[in-house]
Amino acid sequence: MIVNMSDSATEQQIDHIIQRIREAGFQPHVTRGTERTIVAAVGSGGRRHEIEALSVAPGVDNVVAIAQPFKLVSRQTRPQPSVVEVGDVKIKIGGPEVVVIAGPCSVESREQLLETAQAVKRAGATMLRGGAYKPRTSPYEFQGLGVEALKILREARELTGLPVVTEVMSTEDVDLICEYADMLQVGARNMQNFALLRRLATVKKPILLKRGPSATVKEWLLAAEYLLSGGNNQVVLCERGIKTFETATRNTMDLAAVALAKELSHLPVVADPSHGTGKQSLIGAVSRAAIAVGADGIIVEVHPCPERALSDGPQSLDIPQFERVMRGLCEPLRPVLAPGCDPA
Ligand code: PEP
Ligand code: MN
Repeated sequence: MIVNMSDSATEQQIDHIIQRIREAGFQPHVTRGTERTIVAAVGSGGRRHEIEALSVAPGVDNVVAIAQPFKLVSRQTRPQPSVVEVGDVKIKIGGPEVVVIAGPCSVESREQLLETAQAVKRAGATMLRGGAYKPRTSPYEFQGLGVEALKILREARELTGLPVVTEVMSTEDVDLICEYADMLQVGARNMQNFALLRRLATVKKPILLKRGPSATVKEWLLAAEYLLSGGNNQVVLCERGIKTFETATRNTMDLAAVALAKELSHLPVVADPSHGTGKQSLIGAVSRAAIAVGADGIIVEVHPCPERALSDGPQSLDIPQFERVMRGLCEPLRPVLAPGCDPA
C-alpha cells in the first residue's frame, strides 16, 4: 500500500504515518519527492485495513494499493527516476547522460587489462568491466583469475580513474569483492540466486543486476525487489538478451524490456549488446537502439585481440572497433520524413 501525503503535509504528520505503518505490522519506506512525500507500507502479514484507514489521517491525500508485486522497485512508490552513483568519482547512472561501461569479458593478464582500460578510457568510457570469477557453461573452460584479477582491476582503476564493475557468483566472495570493486554484478545465471541477493542487499556497494536468460520482466524486477527490501537501493538493471527460438544471434536482445523496465520501475537500466547479440558487428547498432529506447547506459566487451580472448571473443570489440562504436553513439538518429511535423 502507498500513503500519498499531501503537498502541505508536515514532518510531524509524516512521522505519524510512519509510526502507524509500523504498528500495523508493515515496514515503512519513505520517498521524498520534489513536490510531495510518499510512504509505502511493505511486507507480509500486516493489517491492511489499518493502512486503508490512514486515508483520513491529517496530511494524507490518499491511500492506494501498489498494483505490481514488486513494491519498492515500482514507479508507483517512487515516480522520479533513481540515480545510482558509482565509485569515488561518483559516476551517475540514471542521470541525464548515458554511461558507457567497457572492458574485457574476463581479466586474463595485467597487460591485457591495463591496455584495455587505458584504451577504453581514451575513447570515452566512464567505467571499466572485467570478470574475475566467471560463470562458464562448461567446467573445462577458463574460470577466471579470481583474486589475482581483482588486484589487476584495482590497479587499472588507480591508473585510469575508471570505477570497476565485476561479477560476484557466490556469497562467500562478497566481502572480498567489495574490497576491490566499485560495483558488483549479479550475472544472468544468478539472477534468482536468492541467498546471493539477500547477502548483496546488505552491502554498501551498488549492484548491476542482469536479467536471467529465461526470466520475465516481472521476475527480474522481483529479483531487484530482494535487494531493495533488504536495504540496498543502489541497483541498476541490465538487459542482456533472452533465450528464444532464434539462433542467428547468441541471445535475443529484448529492447522492449528496456523501455518497459523504465516504465515500470524508477531504477536505471543499462543494456548489454555484447551478450545480447554475441556478434561484434551488431554492437554499434544495438547500442544506439538501446539508447533510443531509453537505456541509461551500455556495457560492452572490449579486448585488445578478440581472436585470442579466453572468453566471449566473438562478441568482443577490438580497440579501433570500440572507438568507432563510441563515435557512432554520438551521431544523431536519422531524420524522419514527416512533412508538417514540428518537434518544437
Ligand atoms: C559477463 O558479463 O561476462 C557475463 C557472463 O554476463 P551474463 O551473466 O549476462 O551472461
Ligand atoms: Mn562475457
